[in-house]
Amino acid sequence: MKGQQVVKCPHCRGNKVKSSGTASKRLFWLGVISCITLIGIPAGLILILTYLLMKRSKLRLNFICQKCKRAFKVNEDVYQRYVKSIS
Ligand SMILES: [Zn+2]
Repeated sequence: MKGQQVVKCPHCRGNKVKSSGTASKRLFWLGVISCITLIGIPAGLILILTYLLMKRSKLRLNFICQKCKRAFKVNEDVYQRYVKSIS
């Protein structure tokens, strides 16, 4: 993980944080891959749907610190800057 400086853990000031929103992107690709294998289509669609729901829900503003394992929230603005900084 790159050392982003946008979101820092409020508990230990660490910058190794993980967002539920960016983690859900993996669900999307997993869904796409499942859809390629014909049998996987139902599961794939569920994964893609979950991703879309996550993308719209406030859940994506939840972060987990990798260092102290505590969860915290950021606001929309900070989240957008975070996404830009890691992409
Ligand atoms: Zn922490």
